[in-house]
Amino acid sequence: MLPILGRSVYFSFPVPPFSAIVTAATLVERRFRDKIMLLRTILCITVLTWPLLALAQTSEISADPDRMEQRIKALSAFGANDSGATTRVAFSEADLAGRKYIMELMREAGLTVRVDTAGNIIGRREGSDESLPPIMFGSHIDSVPGGGNYDGNVGVIGAIEVAQLLHERGIETRHPLEIVSFTDEEGGLTGSRAMIGELTDRALEVTTHSGLTIREGIFAVGGDPNRLELAVREPGSIAAFIELHIEQGGILDEEKINIGVVEGIVGIRWWDVTIDGFANHAGTTPMNKRRDAMVTAAELTLAINRIATDLPGRQVATVGKIRALPGAPNVIPGEVVLSLEIRDLDARKMQQVFDLIKAEAARIGDARFTPIRFAEIDVASPPAPTDQQMRRVIGAAADDLGLSYRLMPSGAGHDAQDMTHIAPTGMIFVPSVKGISHSPKEFTSAVDMANGASVLLKTVLAIDDGALE
Ligand SMILES: [Zn+2]
Repeated sequence: MLPILGRSVYFSFPVPPFSAIVTAATLVERRFRDKIMLLRTILCITVLTWPLLALAQTSEISADPDRMEQRIKALSAFGANDSGATTRVAFSEADLAGRKYIMELMREAGLTVRVDTAGNIIGRREGSDESLPPIMFGSHIDSVPGGGNYDGNVGVIGAIEVAQLLHERGIETRHPLEIVSFTDEEGGLTGSRAMIGELTDRALEVTTHSGLTIREGIFAVGGDPNRLELAVREPGSIAAFIELHIEQGGILDEEKINIGVVEGIVGIRWWDVTIDGFANHAGTTPMNKRRDAMVTAAELTLAINRIATDLPGRQVATVGKIRALPGAPNVIPGEVVLSLEIRDLDARKMQQVFDLIKAEAARIGDARFTPIRFAEIDVASPPAPTDQQMRRVIGAAADDLGLSYRLMPSGAGHDAQDMTHIAPTGMIFVPSVKGISHSPKEFTSAVDMANGASVLLKTVLAIDDGALE
């Protein structure tokens, strides 16, 4: 246990008052005039170096990069295949083994471990004030098929690192702490959806990559899908939620910035766009007599790209799929169906982008005699902004640690987006080398992982001290 001043934990050495040292020197001088030069020299060195020594010993607690990297490597063994990829899809044998390993690490960090009815692993550390709600932080350890070893894993290993540092140094917090590893993030945020009470019966019947349905999978990991209400946490029952995660984009790596303070998880809307042309003989129909749905699709795709690019802001719009009917080299396409996806942090902005696209589509459709219809698909997820105060606290933590940071949206979905519904939520990003993710080439350096965990620790302690109150 180390002395704690406020929340800065440091080693301190008492520095004797300068006057006392001078007095002592004078007394010594009277008695031992012949050894005066030597003593003066020694005293001078002592007086000058003592504060420096004390300063040098003052150090923030920071995460251990070697320990974190070693644990990331150990975790990557569960589901590793010969090509260097990791397939640890939720509810698979590899996932079960990985979960066992995580629970061992949690116990080693002094946490009391349980699995809630949704299969979320929760490691708890009591606080000194029983009336306070817990501060929760964590991520997930399941992967996509053929994925990497950092997406999710860094957030869970980082959260355990925080718990372990507090445990090793005997630091007590006022709030209880709960370290969470969510169930089946990659399969649709299953664990966090359950935690906010929005895991539907229909979702439970979806078959996952493991071959099990989500319902069967939750049973397999020790949960109980028939009693999901016990996993639900009410709004206000969690003091704060923080997720440390790799960026999965290339901005931090490219700009050489240590930390991303996430402004929110972008909203997503999808449409099926149908273009009605007229299927006709590709050899006998003159060019000026055609109603070619494919040509309209090409023009519309370029217009969508131009609109999303030219509008100020960070919105993105994508045509990712296209199907032409009847789909033969010698037939003018009579119908084309393409996908439209729009993402942004601001729902109004998303609507604005869509309205502009729709107006342009009407113009293109008229000019080419090929009407265009938009049908929105029911998979929309609204933007999930993080807590403003939390962004400030995370930024200050990075600043205190001498780390550079920038605000940024998350273009990918995370459990944190669900948690914004029940708790003040923040996200900490660390760089992904070359922005590669969901790939065996995914990589984040040990130093970057440890930076993220150190910012997480400082954020948790600041919240514990009332930074959000
Ligand atoms: Zn993830």
